[in-house]
Amino acid sequence: MTPSNVPRRSAVNELAVILKSPEISGLIAALEATRWTGRPGYPIAAMIGMALAKSLYSMPTWTRTVALVHEHPALAEVIAPAGELPSVYACYRFTAKLRQYDHLLQDCIARVVRRIKDRDPELGKDVAIDASDMPAYANGQRFKGIKHRRERTPEEYSDPDASWGHRSAVSTRAAGSFYGYKLHMAVCSKTDLPLAWEVVTAKANESMWVTTLLDRLSEVGIQPETCAMDKGYDHRRVYNECDERGVLPIIPLRNSRDVKIGNHFSPFCKHGNWHFAGSDYSRKAAKWRCPTGECQPASKWRKANRLHSLIPRETERWKTLYRRRASVERAFGRLKHEWGLAPLRMRRIERVRLHADLTILAQLTCRLNKERALASAG
Ligand SMILES: [Zn+2]
Repeated sequence: MTPSNVPRRSAVNELAVILKSPEISGLIAALEATRWTGRPGYPIAAMIGMALAKSLYSMPTWTRTVALVHEHPALAEVIAPAGELPSVYACYRFTAKLRQYDHLLQDCIARVVRRIKDRDPELGKDVAIDASDMPAYANGQRFKGIKHRRERTPEEYSDPDASWGHRSAVSTRAAGSFYGYKLHMAVCSKTDLPLAWEVVTAKANESMWVTTLLDRLSEVGIQPETCAMDKGYDHRRVYNECDERGVLPIIPLRNSRDVKIGNHFSPFCKHGNWHFAGSDYSRKAAKWRCPTGECQPASKWRKANRLHSLIPRETERWKTLYRRRASVERAFGRLKHEWGLAPLRMRRIERVRLHADLTILAQLTCRLNKERALASAG
């Protein structure tokens, strides 16, 4: 067993605190109220404990999670104080049932986000949206046959919900296509915490999920002022969708036809480039001024649109906000490397969704409990 898989005492305590937190207790009580008892009768608290331990210790499979808990009495004591530890089979059955009661899990996640927001009113003031690749745990051979090479039909893949998508380059590998899913997330730029997310099949266009994420933020009482996204989201539709929700999009311009002919430039005259003189958010227009004031009129308003942002792209403010888009990349990295989000070891989108939900719930609940602990200590 690698050192990272050995439960640290602090992680055991962390799990104990999470299981006792009001939000997770609420989920356990709500699941108990469905009168569903996981045969052969493991308590729901133990099952939730197993599910959270899987994320806390970045275990790829239930088999490994169950083995880990069996080897560590302190962990076993927290998960099943009354004795019997859930079997691998019971864990599978539990996740199947949990998918049926997804609304209870979603309520729990929403409560956790709201509680974090209660403690930090700045949470989600500025957000960043992006999608990250989650390669499928399935046959991803794109082509079939050697002599008569042809593309596989969806039925020929072992995960019919996965699909081919494109991922952009990161430091460790080049851009290219991959087979699987994408996790779309809206992340708080200040705290790097995921606040809304959605798992979709890889081929779906990224820019189509902005409304889903922004509407989900609004459901948990988060109204961002700005939303930073990369060039892939530079579509007129995305600007409109943000505008309709009172969110200012911070997106760099693609080299589209109107950018090539220079329609995105700020106003200028024979005295030089005009200076940005503030925006009127209710009029949705930015004011520009002749550098010497000799022009008549010396200033004018320009309506905001895709090419002309209310916070102009040449300002330091825009650049600062865009730099904070890195928060969503950090959040993906943390979920994949510290919380066991990747690699996927399950097939079908519903299972991948539940896996993402439980992983992020574990992270968020940990954060909430740390802040509670800090508040009570200080
Ligand atoms: Zn002038």
